[in-house]
Amino acid sequence: MSHFVDFQNVWLAYNEELLAQQRFAVEDISLQLGEGEFIAIVGPSGCGKSTFMKLTTGLKMPSRGSIRIAGEPVTGPLKISGMAFQAPSLLPWRTTLDNVLLPLEIVEPYRSQFKARRKEFEERACRLLASVGLAGYERQFPWQLSGGMQQRASICRALIHEPKMLLLDEPFGALDAFTREELWCILRDLHAEQRFNVILVTHDLRESVFLADKVFVMSKSPGRFVVERNIELPRPRDLEVTYTPEFAEIVHELRGHIGAIRQTTATSPAPVASSPT
Ligand code: ADP
Ligand code: MG
Repeated sequence: MSHFVDFQNVWLAYNEELLAQQRFAVEDISLQLGEGEFIAIVGPSGCGKSTFMKLTTGLKMPSRGSIRIAGEPVTGPLKISGMAFQAPSLLPWRTTLDNVLLPLEIVEPYRSQFKARRKEFEERACRLLASVGLAGYERQFPWQLSGGMQQRASICRALIHEPKMLLLDEPFGALDAFTREELWCILRDLHAEQRFNVILVTHDLRESVFLADKVFVMSKSPGRFVVERNIELPRPRDLEVTYTPEFAEIVHELRGHIGAIRQTTATSPAPVASSPT
């Protein structure tokens, strides 16, 4: 059986000049994910996490190597994925409901059916909003919601077209610790119910261990995957698990890897082109 996500020796330089200088944002990434798998990627700033996401959604094409998603080579932006970022990025002039509906107004096959099926789509959006605790807020505008509520609405928007893959780039970074843990549980439940793939980029090691089946650690210069750690904590996971010794041990182990990477980066000479100008 083929893998749902399949990266074979993928390298990316952002432009021709960088390619000529052999300066790659990510190097030699190979990774295979099964359908419905939940992975997290952790690593220092600038190591290539967002670049990896752009490759996965087809926003960037690799300079070398190949990427297949759902058995098909990636040749351009993918419709089977949904994305959410650190800043909720809801449109301020649209209600929460209309923000969630936005992808259906843009992405085919929904786009051409939107007018005719609007009622049904609205019901779907309302169900999704209710499942993340936002029933009753459909007609509110983003600025009337708290940060955590806006982020929940963003996740609904990323899921409204029922993508097979959800890409989350530091989605909870701007939230307080309690709200963040609440959203972990919401994401856990949505994933358990719908079994889409999740690729979560995060700085929070506890978050990665609580949510993911597998955590990848990325190094900087070169931007590579250096550690792959299976998280064997049984599911469903409750927040209580985060206070157990097994949990702490995994977080501690990952912390060790990150520490080692930071050390190497700090003591290695600065890359050529970053000399002061
Ligand atoms: P992360 O998300 O892990 O912080 P990024 O993927 O954003 O890292 O960046 C990885 C590397 O690629 C960095 O060295 C960054 O400067 C470089 N980079 C990111 N975007 C661009 C771009 N549009 N053009 C050139 N270089 C870029
Ligand atoms: Mg980033």
